[in-house]
Amino acid sequence: MTLSGGNARQALSRRIIDTCKAMNASGINQGKSGNVSARFGDAMLITPSGVAYDALKPMDIVLQELDGVCAPGQLLPSSEWRMHADIYRNRSEAQAIVHAHPTFCTALSCRRESIPAFHYMVAVAGGVDIRCSDYATFGTEDLSRTMITALDGRKACLLANHGMICFDGDLDRALALAIEVESLARQYHHARQGGTPVILDDEQMTDVLEKFKSYGRQPRD
Ligand code: 13P
Ligand code: ZN
Repeated sequence: MTLSGGNARQALSRRIIDTCKAMNASGINQGKSGNVSARFGDAMLITPSGVAYDALKPMDIVLQELDGVCAPGQLLPSSEWRMHADIYRNRSEAQAIVHAHPTFCTALSCRRESIPAFHYMVAVAGGVDIRCSDYATFGTEDLSRTMITALDGRKACLLANHGMICFDGDLDRALALAIEVESLARQYHHARQGGTPVILDDEQMTDVLEKFKSYGRQPRD
């Protein structure tokens, strides 16, 4: 692992910074909360801990091995590097990760509630619901462990009394998924104001999951 890493590292670091700024501009995150990473060969590039996104420069983005080792001379990586590294280690399809503290996801997570299939779009995360993990202190292996369980068969989960995390095939898609999950959490909150929403059954959701395999693909893709 080299510290400079060349143009590819710099270009991906810039895209990580752009994603952080877009994440906060979208309203799903605020201040220094959250963190963003991208797979980089056998390692990952991840935001440094506790640095305001507007102040980030490409060389501030930390190159870190998936076992936690960072080359010296870099800023400290996100306190949540274990969650990011464990997703890359356990989920080969993950190329980028967004962790945020969105208001409606976080409110649900404080009640330890998953998002059930109240709307077919819940399938966007890969399953019939978007689970909420158990609680563990931020930045711990325990949190990473409970997150991996909650992500089983899914690309997103809520983190108890904390927020949400998701991954996808690139940074744009990971951010889009984070925004979608927060939108679902908000819709679920509103759907419950006037009564009890009808939850789609497994057969109905299986139909949706099947359709999602080809949905949105155009001939030019
Ligand atoms: P970092 O600034 O260390 O990435 O922490 C933010 C956060 O969301 C912790 O859960
Ligand atoms: Zn957090």
